[in-house]
Amino acid sequence: MNNTVVTRFAPSPTGFLHIGGARTALFNWLYAKAMGGKMLLRIEDTDRARSTQEAIDAIIDGLTWLELDWEGEPVSQSARAERHVEVAEKLLAEGKAYRCYASAEELAEMREKARAEGRAPRYDGRWRDRDPSEAPEGVPPVIRFKAPQEGETIIQDRVQGEVRWSNKELDDLVLLRADRSPTYMLSVVVDDYDMGITHVIRGDDHLTNAARQTQIFRALGWEPPVYAHVPLIHGPDGAKLSKRHGALGVEAYRAMGYLPAALRNYLVRLGWAHGDQEIFSTQELIELFDLDAIGRSPARFDFTKLESVNAHY
Ligand code: GLU
Repeated sequence: MNNTVVTRFAPSPTGFLHIGGARTALFNWLYAKAMGGKMLLRIEDTDRARSTQEAIDAIIDGLTWLELDWEGEPVSQSARAERHVEVAEKLLAEGKAYRCYASAEELAEMREKARAEGRAPRYDGRWRDRDPSEAPEGVPPVIRFKAPQEGETIIQDRVQGEVRWSNKELDDLVLLRADRSPTYMLSVVVDDYDMGITHVIRGDDHLTNAARQTQIFRALGWEPPVYAHVPLIHGPDGAKLSKRHGALGVEAYRAMGYLPAALRNYLVRLGWAHGDQEIFSTQELIELFDLDAIGRSPARFDFTKLESVNAHY
């Protein structure tokens, strides 16, 4: 059996390399190095309207400057759409997905009803078991996943611990849109599987996605990766990191003359700690880094600390 750890950094190329993205890349890179594995790079460019070549170049430039290397060529998610459609068709053929013809008005009604009842919107599964002969003519369907309705989905997250969702909270999400384009949720599962990803390390804004992705993995008879959801970075005032806390792009720090090793050393401590030690060589980090030492509460970004770290280099 092959036990090599394979991680990935999977940015959406809609802007520069953000401090938070750089930290995610760093954690994936360090964990792969620490375990003698490899990190892959996947450009999640399926949102054609928001993805730009400029952003892809900026992300690759930022990673290169930070000396975070990946194995092989970057994988372009949009180039894999045919494979994503093939997997959706497989789920459909196996009765694990279905065609849904609910109109925009019907979906709006479901959202409105949920709002009135003070709960999160949820697709009610109305096309789940309906006879295909009832399909309206000339309306292209979306393909929805038949999510399990009973029981729970449970994840043993390496940072968050055990996280459980009642399956009643997770509705039948869309896998293929009416124009047959695959959704993020399907693409990520298929790509993580095909790329042999063993560990997914990313921001905890993706935690609920992990439950949904796990359901899709299981329906396909594939083993889900190990998940590690890292709390998002906050500013010194405890609010979610934003521009008013200082520059957010790695490029800005490069332009100000910070050294890549200083920024890496600073970023790694936004969430990970090894006692009180503040300065680490890269080799030391590779030796010490472990997912289990990542904290569960959000780290605070503090510009003055970054300066004092930089002064050591
Ligand atoms: N492309 C997503 C993002 O940039 C990340 C998806 C993932 O890591 O699974 O937020």
